Amino acid sequence: MYDVLIVGGGPCGLAAGIEAAKSGLSHLILEKGSLTESIRRYPKMMRFFSTAENIEIGGIPFPISGVKANRNEALQYYRKVAAYYKLNFKLFQEVQQVVKKNDNLFSVETISGTVYQAKKVILATGYFDRPRWLGVPGEDLAHVSHYYDEPFRYSFTNVVIIGAANSAVEAALELYRHDVHVTVIHRGEDFKPTVKYWLIPDVKNRVKEGKIHTAFNACLTRIEEGRVYVRNTQTGEEQGLPADFVLILTGYTPDADFLRRCGLELDPVTQIPAYDKTTFESTVPGLYVCGTVMAGIYTEKVFIENGREHAQAIIDHIAGREIHKVKELIDRI
Ligand SMILES: Cc1cc2nc3c(=O)[nH]c(=O)nc-3n(C[C@H](O)[C@H](O)[C@H](O)COP(=O)(O)OP(=O)(O)OC[C@H]3O[C@@H](n4cnc5c(N)ncnc54)[C@H](O)[C@@H]3O)c2cc1C
Repeated sequence: MYDVLIVGGGPCGLAAGIEAAKSGLSHLILEKGSLTESIRRYPKMMRFFSTAENIEIGGIPFPISGVKANRNEALQYYRKVAAYYKLNFKLFQEVQQVVKKNDNLFSVETISGTVYQAKKVILATGYFDRPRWLGVPGEDLAHVSHYYDEPFRYSFTNVVIIGAANSAVEAALELYRHDVHVTVIHRGEDFKPTVKYWLIPDVKNRVKEGKIHTAFNACLTRIEEGRVYVRNTQTGEEQGLPADFVLILTGYTPDADFLRRCGLELDPVTQIPAYDKTTFESTVPGLYVCGTVMAGIYTEKVFIENGREHAQAIIDHIAGREIHKVKELIDRI
């Protein structure tokens, strides 16, 4: 029986484990993949937009030679912090559901059938393993992916990217710089205004030069081996484009089915769970949400910078202390 069981070993789940350990509460973190699995699956050459000190956890400095960390530096950092605090975690343990047994007892069941017991449970499951599927024929073919990993695999091939937000723009630029013929397809008329402001002139100038190709006001209708088909939303005209690979980078959302199985009440439109804005306790007493999992479809509004703070407020509430006030969610636009 643990005082606190945390589902998810991302930066916010680790921050919750640290706060529990600092407060003398026994804790267990169950993580379905490796430690900080989401970051491990980020594009290999990515660099965080946050400065390193803004993604630190547990008060441990994150020294790097530059200003913003890359993926590898972040993986090293979070691993070292977890070891420093001697966090108690079990990896490759996917939680199937959380069941409230009585006032002070939850049972937490994993896919493999193991059951853990805890007085309080914190859900810190993020959003990154649930891509938004478009529902077009061919989306499940082998040359189609909802994740972008690294550019070298694609050099001297035709890659079609669906989406026009940060991930799509970053992938398009990186691929173009690795001798990939890139076409970006988006149903809107331009790149999204949320794209990092320093990337906008870069991508727009490459489009003007004809080095990155675009099909705006265009809907993907189907994917076949070596080809995609798009329909212009204004003229209705359909055309086929060569596509050795298709990257559907249209975002991710928290796993609503899992959250409902755990007893959370989700808004039917935004999928934001009902929770107390001060304590982060859900409508199930003793069950908390921490980090980006609470953002519903607005995953761009809760990130490490603000999500890491939830941990302290939650553990203050569990420990019966005055509750740390979390900064308002920042709209990064
Ligand atoms: C390319 C990219 C760049 C980014 N750059 C920044 C940045 O510069 N600054 C910033 O603040 N944020 C950034 N973000 C966002 C940030 O990474 C996320 O907001 C952050 O990871 C959220 O942390 P978390 O702990 O809430 O969730 P996650 O890091 O997603 O961790 C959730 C964990 O829960 C695990 N899990 C899920 N379901 C289960 C289950 N059923 N059982 C057990 N484990 C489960 C997952 O495997 C995962 O490890 C970026 C995101 C992306 C995609």
